[in-house]
Amino acid sequence: MFDDLRELYQEVIFDHNRNPRNFRIIEQADRTVEGFNPLCGDRLTLYLTLTGDVITDASFQGSGCAISTASVSLMTDIVKGKTITDAERLFKQFHEMTTGKEEHINLEALGKLAVLAGVREYPARVKCATLAWHTLDAALKNEAQAISTE
Ligand code: ZN
Repeated sequence: MFDDLRELYQEVIFDHNRNPRNFRIIEQADRTVEGFNPLCGDRLTLYLTLTGDVITDASFQGSGCAISTASVSLMTDIVKGKTITDAERLFKQFHEMTTGKEEHINLEALGKLAVLAGVREYPARVKCATLAWHTLDAALKNEAQAISTE
């Protein structure tokens, strides 16, 4: 990755960590799931409002490292207005990007999420980046009240 691109990506991560988007509780949430990454100590609670099969609102509370906070902030922003199917597709693409299974990163599909592509070089941080998405996946499948990455 080019150094200037890396710097830009770091700026976006710092910005979302300092000023997390959607950092609030949805009182009448349709789905509430807690996510925990014991490897790093990242904890979050994800709230979703669903209208039919569309995610009409998403928010979170919790505390974690810069990567996990930036990731959940970006995730709640990007899934708003998306259908459950589209959100699951994004989760799959994001997972492939961060675990390095997919060599070619589809920047167009991932948009701003591409800023987290760098974590693939740091295996210990991958779970920080994917915690938000595993929690989202559990919330969409409506199978669990809490998930852990370990
Ligand atoms: Zn972390």
